[in-house]
Amino acid sequence: MTFFLFIYGTCLGSTAMALAIRYTQGESAWWPRSHCDICHQALPHWQLWPIVSFIALRGRCFYCKTRLSPISLFVEVTIGILATTIGNSHSLLVVTWLIMWSYAALCDRVSLTFPGWISYMGLYLSVGDRPPLFLTLVLFTTIGHFAWQHWSHPLLGDGDVDLILQYTLIFGLEMLGPWLASACLMALVTHGNNQRRQAFIPWLTLSAIMWWL
Ligand SMILES: [Zn+2]
Repeated sequence: MTFFLFIYGTCLGSTAMALAIRYTQGESAWWPRSHCDICHQALPHWQLWPIVSFIALRGRCFYCKTRLSPISLFVEVTIGILATTIGNSHSLLVVTWLIMWSYAALCDRVSLTFPGWISYMGLYLSVGDRPPLFLTLVLFTTIGHFAWQHWSHPLLGDGDVDLILQYTLIFGLEMLGPWLASACLMALVTHGNNQRRQAFIPWLTLSAIMWWL
């Protein structure tokens, strides 16, 4: 069972990575078929297997030999491991929530934005079993998103705030501190002297996955 969950997870990871690349490049999720981002050669099925294809191709495009991003391998393995923790309805819900935010993180790291439906879907997974609270927070989130557009230099993105709220709802206030601390630490270590605004959702998500595992 664990093996099948792992395989299923790696496929989801691979799909999330592909969809995120398409989102950041403004491409349709459905068309054209999978291709190399550099030489645009369409990829046959044997080059689309999670993990296995990366190893078989030795981390390079079969056609133009450009090095493939090791992030895709990392995402496939991580989501594969994440899927193996599914054992009951609660863990299924948490893992779904983590995979969804992983997709948002992959979009955010490149474009500093992600599809807006993730905020609402994440909220549904967090408190969907309590309709009055869910509807109140949907209203709160919508007003928040509207207000954020009129704030010239926000300290955090509105997506970061959504993620922090949902994490607290799922895991409780006592986990908030350690989770935020490890996300900030990872962000600071990798940020260096870079002046550019940094995506924070990838670090929040990675920290959430680490604490869950
Ligand atoms: Zn290529």
